[in-house]
Amino acid sequence: MTTINRRNFVKLLAAAPLASVLTVPTTARGAAAGKRVVVIGGGFGGATAAKYIKRMDPKITVTLIEPNKTYVSCPLSNEVISGHRTIETLQTGYDALGKRGVEILNDLVTGIDPAKKSVTTKGGKTLNYDALVVAPGVELNYGAIEGYSEAVAAEIPHAYKAGEQTLILKKQLEAMPDGGLFVIAVPKGPFRCPPGPYERAAQVAHYCKNNGKAKSKVLILDANDTFAKKALFEQGWAALYPGMIEWVPASKDGKVVKIDPKTKTAFTELGDHKAAVLNLIPPQSAGAIAKAAGLTNANGWCEIVPSSMESAAQKGIWVVGDSCVGGELPTYPFPKSAHMAMTQAKVAAGAIVASLNGVAAPVPYYANTCYSLVAPDYGISVVQVYRVDDNKFVYVKEAGGVSPADALPIQRKLEAEYADGWFRNVMADAFG
Ligand SMILES: Cc1cc2nc3c(=O)[nH]c(=O)nc-3n(C[C@H](O)[C@H](O)[C@H](O)COP(=O)(O)OP(=O)(O)OC[C@H]3O[C@@H](n4cnc5c(N)ncnc54)[C@H](O)[C@@H]3O)c2cc1C
Repeated sequence: MTTINRRNFVKLLAAAPLASVLTVPTTARGAAAGKRVVVIGGGFGGATAAKYIKRMDPKITVTLIEPNKTYVSCPLSNEVISGHRTIETLQTGYDALGKRGVEILNDLVTGIDPAKKSVTTKGGKTLNYDALVVAPGVELNYGAIEGYSEAVAAEIPHAYKAGEQTLILKKQLEAMPDGGLFVIAVPKGPFRCPPGPYERAAQVAHYCKNNGKAKSKVLILDANDTFAKKALFEQGWAALYPGMIEWVPASKDGKVVKIDPKTKTAFTELGDHKAAVLNLIPPQSAGAIAKAAGLTNANGWCEIVPSSMESAAQKGIWVVGDSCVGGELPTYPFPKSAHMAMTQAKVAAGAIVASLNGVAAPVPYYANTCYSLVAPDYGISVVQVYRVDDNKFVYVKEAGGVSPADALPIQRKLEAEYADGWFRNVMADAFG
């Protein structure tokens, strides 16, 4: 099997989780009629869970609670910063889910009572549930970096929740003088989208190279000693942006501990770096509502039961998406990606529908596919597949892999096109 053929095989395999959950024999039984599932959070995880529960068993009432009427995708938002796509191409509403019979409630959940099986909202509603899906994404812990706060983020953007923040960073890049230093501060993992900051560095360098700022540099100050797809990124950076991107790992004093927003200076333990643009990505943990409900561990993340995505801390609640962790450090099997959030949501949907109908949950597979764009015509990717054995994650090494190091330019170009196709597919699958 050639590398490319193996990769195609892997992408087919990545569709497996959907097939396995759709075989649940539910609707014929009707046992779940009149039952209600509440889903907290309408991102990739929550929207997918709501849609698939309704599709698997239309007799179940599904209520999706999300404060925003428009969702903005983080995937491909680094391309907005570099001007290769508009923010509008990343936006979606919830009308299609509504047409499928999912009740949409635009509100914020402020409390979960697992004993009473109810949630309360900022708008004053109380909803009872038979099963609850919690998918609030990540909380950005601004206070972990001295000098940073949510208010300061208007000047020193993180751009790690797409939308206004993405546009602030884009404007600052456009206004940066030639020769200006663009600093990206990366928090200690786990954080959402492990390759995100390194893709961003490439997109920024691409913008500078092609917009009269070729003397500028991108400095990545990292609280980690390695990163996702490192060899491929470094190869791409060297080929396309020689001398423009510098990566400083934690072991070489890369961890940012403090900032001065006025002078846009990032301080590490031993040094300081004055930036023209300072992009500070703060440390992260599970969404605040998950913590408030007692679903998080000592590190601030939600542990789950691998065979079902049910919370390890609370029965009757399923946690999906960026809020959860699976397995053990340093190789958490759950990269915090949209693709993985959707796989988890489908596993949870199957387990919930089975549970409400009194049948056994289907056997899950988990898959992740993650593309990164080093340039508009230069894509790289990674695929991971996991099965569950004895309620533990097992990495299926024959299935996963990364783009080959010796790929031809046409293969890099094709991967960039696949990234766009992947994006349109996940948006349609989660929100369509
Ligand atoms: C720059 C960047 C690039 C990325 N690129 C990729 C990529 O190429 N591929 C990929 O697979 N992933 C990518 N990701 C990661 C991806 O965005 C996340 O993994 C994904 O969004 C996780 O989905 P989620 O549903 O867990 O959380 P989210 O998408 O953040 O959704 C959570 C939702 O919950 C809502 N919410 C929160 N609290 C409450 C509450 N109390 N009540 C009601 N609603 C609530 C929020 O409003 C939000 O809409 C990228 C991320 C970034 C930042």
